[in-house]
Amino acid sequence: MTLPALSRSKIDLFLNCPRCFWLDVRAKIRQPPGFPFNLNNAVDHLLKNEFDRYRGGTTVPPRLQREGLALIPAAHRELPKWRHNFTGVRVEHAPTGLTVYGAIDDLWTDARGNHYVVDYKATAKKDEVTLDAEWQDAYKRQVEFYQWLLRQHRVKVADRAWFVYANGVKDEAPFDDVLRFRTKLIPYDGDASWVEPTLREVADCLAMKQPPAPAPECVFCDYVARASAIG
Ligand code: SF4
Repeated sequence: MTLPALSRSKIDLFLNCPRCFWLDVRAKIRQPPGFPFNLNNAVDHLLKNEFDRYRGGTTVPPRLQREGLALIPAAHRELPKWRHNFTGVRVEHAPTGLTVYGAIDDLWTDARGNHYVVDYKATAKKDEVTLDAEWQDAYKRQVEFYQWLLRQHRVKVADRAWFVYANGVKDEAPFDDVLRFRTKLIPYDGDASWVEPTLREVADCLAMKQPPAPAPECVFCDYVARASAIG
């Protein structure tokens, strides 16, 4: 069987439920699609525009200056491809034969040539944004996977990654077609040591003739099984 290239989100699907992953990749039975995050995508686009103005130059973007960070948006020649959803940073993993990829939001660099994975996030919540919720472990795995991908391309990547986290302000001000944000830079020190063993588990999963068991904490397979039993 010829395997498709696996995106970063497919690897996360495997970590959440190997059965769902197997059904998706081997049997082409996919979870119903969710709604598109159009406002989040708009914020990503605007942040890209903002940082692109300083890309490859000598001026630290004001947003980073305010945090005392001497980092510049990198101008690596592969960056347009690495940022594109359908190409991304692509790696052929020889030990498993898998091709894996992921599209980064941005890459910053310091004076010593270290590169920092950057991910843009957008939300709208009353409390200050953090990375503390359990579900945000997926965000951490995301940047760790990007760090691993870039290191396979011999990019000197620091363990430190940055989240540029825009939080929509909900106050009493009239809308007037203006949505305001408070944006916070959140550092995260990644550990990508899980990637290699996970890719081996992914390959083993895809070699199975039958799908693995459902994840016990997921309610949907149980719902389908009970609904199907009725006829
Ligand atoms: S247990 Fe949930 S996540 Fe896993 S295959 Fe079933 S529906 Fe998908």
